[in-house]
Amino acid sequence: MDAKVTIDSGAEEELFREIGQRAAAEALAKRWESGNPESVGDCPECGQQMKNLGMRMKEVQTLCGPIRLHRRMGYCEQCEKTLSVLDERLGLKDTGITPGLQRIICRTALEMAYESTEALLKDVLGFKPCSAREMERIACKHGKEIERVSETIYTRRPPAKKVYSVSIDGTMIPGLADPEKHRIVWHEVKLATATDVRDLEMPFYVASTEKAEGFGLRLFNPDISYRFYCVCAIVHVYCVALVLAPRHIV
Ligand SMILES: [Zn+2]
Repeated sequence: MDAKVTIDSGAEEELFREIGQRAAAEALAKRWESGNPESVGDCPECGQQMKNLGMRMKEVQTLCGPIRLHRRMGYCEQCEKTLSVLDERLGLKDTGITPGLQRIICRTALEMAYESTEALLKDVLGFKPCSAREMERIACKHGKEIERVSETIYTRRPPAKKVYSVSIDGTMIPGLADPEKHRIVWHEVKLATATDVRDLEMPFYVASTEKAEGFGLRLFNPDISYRFYCVCAIVHVYCVALVLAPRHIV
């Protein structure tokens, strides 16, 4: 190669990426097709022997680009359903986009609009994974699934007894200026954060300017949750007011 001639590195990168992707996609298809069962077996829903429909091709979008996947298809006369064992194994039931690529689509769609996601992924991946409309459908499907899982976690019955891990610290904050002594009065604010180590609830915070003994007793209150949120909110407002007040006076 002539040392003085400019190399179009961008074009070469694109070309070699495409060659690499094509080789990887072919290897993926070959590997996955080897996961086809010899026979279609029984229907997973009713248990009846399925009819072997032979191999059928399906276009699948992967992180390495599009592939053509041949899968053995079965048909259940009882349920009147056609299914592919390989699709189920690969997480490709009712979709032509692999779970790996769907994850990337969802991750990107979290950050920007679907049209922008389509354009960005085409640039980054080197091929267009699917339309903006399809991306919206994938993101909505996963969003609903996350909602369902979250609801299951947060609506489950809480453990009978809470086990809190508590961290406590204190700091001095400036309060209002004393009109007689003409100096700022300092207050010690105590702050505690408590987390139930066995649960997934958010930690809660307690702050107060009262003495250590009273503050300690407050933390051992058995009805620790709701009332503390209220106390915490009020004391926080009070503390913020104490910090801000001297600046306004000056
Ligand atoms: Zn069946």
